[in-house]
Amino acid sequence: MTPVADLITPRVTEIAPGVVVRRALPTRALRQVGAWCFLDHFGPVNGSDMQRFSIGAHPHIGLQTATWLFEGALLHRDSIGSEQLIRAGELNLMTAGQGIAHSEQLGPEVAGLHGLQFWIALPDHVRHCEPRFEHHDALPRWRDGEASLRLFVGRHGDQVSPAMVHSPLIGLEVQATLAQTLRLPLATDFEHAVYVARGSVQVDDQIAGEGQMLSLVAHAAEVRLMLAPGTLCVLLGGVPFTEPLMMWWNFVARESAEIETAREDWQQGRRFGTVIEGGSRIDAPSLDLHLRVPARP
Ligand code: MN
Repeated sequence: MTPVADLITPRVTEIAPGVVVRRALPTRALRQVGAWCFLDHFGPVNGSDMQRFSIGAHPHIGLQTATWLFEGALLHRDSIGSEQLIRAGELNLMTAGQGIAHSEQLGPEVAGLHGLQFWIALPDHVRHCEPRFEHHDALPRWRDGEASLRLFVGRHGDQVSPAMVHSPLIGLEVQATLAQTLRLPLATDFEHAVYVARGSVQVDDQIAGEGQMLSLVAHAAEVRLMLAPGTLCVLLGGVPFTEPLMMWWNFVARESAEIETAREDWQQGRRFGTVIEGGSRIDAPSLDLHLRVPARP
């Protein structure tokens, strides 16, 4: 019998000195969930450790970044002039397209910081588009028993997120203060995963604890999430993204030549513009690092 869910344990990685995150995508076992191609879980942190999560100006191509906080606030600035404070339950969605630079710095009067950083791969026909930035603070939210749900990307039943994405996707936050079994209908042409930021989630006989992810079996029409008290998790889904991706540093592309050009453009101060008050500019690492090519079966 096919298991209903596979347990994925993210790797712990240091994105800058002293800044440790859990990287749930890509992993060896699971490269992508639809166009969701990258997921870092940061925090919870508080006190002086939070300041380390202020990230200076750096470039992106070929993707959208989605920032989703559970706690705290970050100030986004980018090279097309956006300046936006984001708080828990709000979405910052930046479409890099052909190239943008941004910084994300700790907001004022923040007591703690906890959240997720996603990347969404752009399909070939839009990946060279002009960069844009969206902020959404009025996202669909509802209750189901003891669970409270917020839809940040895609649609669920009659609920639709206003966030503009370029392939069929879902991003849904689920919080449960008390234990609850939650049945969620799923799109059968999507692949899905559930990332657990706090508490635990059981699907069939698989249990994911804090910092773990469950990859759900394809084509299921429904999932039954058994949520422990105090659970905070995110359902991710999307139509399988079949274009082969090449990911290196902050770039998503198709060929190594694109990555090399983007790296050189950033290092030479071309293409990406300037982030006003963007903090210290982050240099690209050496290209000697191997080009990472996530293979899809
Ligand atoms: Mn970034």
